[in-house]
Amino acid sequence: MTTTAAAYAAPSAKAPLERTTIPRRVVGEHDVLIDIKYAGICHSDIHASTDGWGEGIYPMVPGHEIAGVVTGTGPGVTRYRVGDRVGVGVFVDSCRTCDNCAQGLEQYCLKGTTSTYNARDKNGEPTYGGYSTHIVVDENYVVRIPDALSLDVAAPLLCAGVTLYSPLRHWNAGPGKKVAVVGLGGLGHLGVKIAHALGAEVTVLSQSLRKQADGLRLGADHYYATSDPNTFEQLAGSFDLVVSTVSAPLDLDAYLGLLRTDGALVNVGIPEEPVSLDLFSLVSGRKTLAGSSLGGIAETQEMLDFCAEHGFGAEIELIRADQINEAYERVLASDVRYRFVIDTATI
Ligand code: NAP
Ligand code: ZN
Ligand code: ZN
Repeated sequence: MTTTAAAYAAPSAKAPLERTTIPRRVVGEHDVLIDIKYAGICHSDIHASTDGWGEGIYPMVPGHEIAGVVTGTGPGVTRYRVGDRVGVGVFVDSCRTCDNCAQGLEQYCLKGTTSTYNARDKNGEPTYGGYSTHIVVDENYVVRIPDALSLDVAAPLLCAGVTLYSPLRHWNAGPGKKVAVVGLGGLGHLGVKIAHALGAEVTVLSQSLRKQADGLRLGADHYYATSDPNTFEQLAGSFDLVVSTVSAPLDLDAYLGLLRTDGALVNVGIPEEPVSLDLFSLVSGRKTLAGSSLGGIAETQEMLDFCAEHGFGAEIELIRADQINEAYERVLASDVRYRFVIDTATI
């Protein structure tokens, strides 16, 4: 039987989110029914729900940092049982057969993933995200939240955590490597924690020094303000890896100038406008400019286990559902410390 979930949705691109109800599909053979306890607010929720990236499907229920408890399972489910603590991230399906899916790179499925919200599932029905009371997801796109992590601080790991873990691992952040994280927001603060736990020497590049004490407490070794023009001169040629989490267009030439020979600038922020590049910035010093998106399902599980082992989740501000619109304003003002998480019991 389909069920009705209470949810917060953007009725249209320019309207604030409001309480509504949405249908959830019948629990199929391989599905789990999840009682959502917490949902993180990712900056992507704002880009998407305000139609900053285009192609919005309304009403839109954002939320792809979902932590909850299994309350039902389909007859073919083997991995999860009622009572298990689980998470769902940014996608809920992929083709499962392409080269990328076969390698555990489902986030780069060659036929396209099915996003947790603002997409259509195999039956053409719209998908609705985590700002809601429950969700039905195929068990293959569900991960286990280790007991050592409480569900509220685990929720942001499902997108922000893995989005930083994946490139930090791929570009070998670790002992002897100098890593800079640009932007100390939801993604950035987890980047600092993860890069520090991996053993790298970590620098935060933030617009100002107002969050410096927090950055150092989270594990950064150094902290600089990018509003200070001396910063770029002082740090020229310093880093093996710079990861930008900035949600607005970035001066790529300036950040490429911070790399050592053979260094990489990896962009995970997805601004709404294109950016330009002077190719001289890339060729001198054999530098790499790259992007990275999310992580695969197995990698997401690996990241959760890594965070549990190192004893950290996200730094969160827990909010009621009726505070979502206000939280969006604060994220847009770079006033997030460091992830808003919705207590879905308040929906
Ligand atoms: P967030 O919490 O708002 O953090 C972004 C940070 O960037 C801000 O806290 C701010 O840090 C800095 N920033 C913002 N505007 C800036 C500007 N105009 N100039 C310089 N710095 C600025 O957002 P988030 O949730 O971490 O997401 C960041 C971006 O990543 C978004 O575009 C989001 O859509 C994207 N994203 C990508 C992926 C992926 O897979 N690639 C996954 C999730 C999210 P300071 O105040 O410290 O400067
Ligand atoms: Zn996200
Ligand atoms: Zn695929």
